[in-house]
Amino acid sequence: MKRDVSQTGMGTKTLWAGEEERLPYGTTQVPIVQSVAFGYDDLDEWQSVALGKAAGHIYSRNTNPTVAAFEEKVRLLEGAEAATSFASGMAAISNTLFTILRPGDRIVTVKDTYGGTNQLFREFLPQIDVNVRLCDTTDHEQIEAEIRKGCRLVYLETPTNPTLKVMDIARLAQAGHAAGAIVVTDNTFATPINQWPLELGSDLVLHSASKFLGGHADALGGVVCGAKELIHAIFHYREINGATLDPFAAYLLLRGLKTLEIRIERQNANALKIAQFLEQHPAIARVNYPGLLSHPQHEIARRQMPGGFGGMMSFVLRGDYETVKTFLPKLKFAHRAANLGSVETIVGPPATTSHVEVSKEDRAAMGIPEALVRYSTGIENVTDLIADLEQALA
Ligand code: PLP
Repeated sequence: MKRDVSQTGMGTKTLWAGEEERLPYGTTQVPIVQSVAFGYDDLDEWQSVALGKAAGHIYSRNTNPTVAAFEEKVRLLEGAEAATSFASGMAAISNTLFTILRPGDRIVTVKDTYGGTNQLFREFLPQIDVNVRLCDTTDHEQIEAEIRKGCRLVYLETPTNPTLKVMDIARLAQAGHAAGAIVVTDNTFATPINQWPLELGSDLVLHSASKFLGGHADALGGVVCGAKELIHAIFHYREINGATLDPFAAYLLLRGLKTLEIRIERQNANALKIAQFLEQHPAIARVNYPGLLSHPQHEIARRQMPGGFGGMMSFVLRGDYETVKTFLPKLKFAHRAANLGSVETIVGPPATTSHVEVSKEDRAAMGIPEALVRYSTGIENVTDLIADLEQALA
């Protein structure tokens, strides 16, 4: 039975999108099609599929049924025309940038992108003669002025990792389009439950699916969604570049996606309560959470994150890196790991997580204090998480 999920709620989409048709053998779950290639006895049929004239698969570096179901689910969640997937979030980001940018192009972005993305901007894009302008993340006037000077691409990430700064996607997308640029937004922290960058004017939305989309910290993946033509160009680069999502990882991500809405609703609610608790605590110097009234861009966040403010926050302990080293091991219900977005709570300092590639001096210049703790709220009972923080801070 063909089910139309285009008008359903997000919870129904997370379950049924990409899985509308009856599956082989009547399975109720998308099977893991763990095959490198697909065989054809009829050479004419083989050629039709190879030329894209008939539906089917040839070789799993290009397309695969399990991977296709994952792409279709995310496509519908982001409200996009097309989607293509990758072996990791960084593969999604680098393949997107290297598909679009040419030597001599200019890109406008901000200082606070994820550390790996920042590394592309500082090290690898300049190697191919792409001119990268890194603006102050929340200085919208400066970003607009830089965009007006002309650029091929505007790259946004909101909320940012790890200081949870918020950028006005609609405003910057408008500036980008006025300059003829392609606007790309990393939606990893917000997820499509909380924020829809395409609806706000972004041309492409991408994710590290390793984080909230998968939600169980057991599979790496990436995905980019947008208009057909652009996605096809990125897909074409990826199939040659080879950064393909593995079918088993696609299966795990598909399974994780089924509970995306209820996980995110719980993480939104837990994070807000924890941020409010921490903000009142004498051992905490500052809490960065877009849902707090004290957040400098709270008004923008309220407008562009109708689903909620997400599960990510960071906070600054009164003290230094030594204080962080004493505090973190005391938490009982948190993994100390370089990850985020899982069902379990995960904590870590940026010096060993998001900004491990960045020097201490550069971190300071980026406004990332050594006493900062990144906190990825899990779906545990919030009273247990608050009690855990309370005993660790005592
Ligand atoms: N984008 C953001 C916002 C991230 O936090 C990360 C990783 O932490 C990435 C992209 C890269 O994703 P991956 O680790 O799947 O390559």
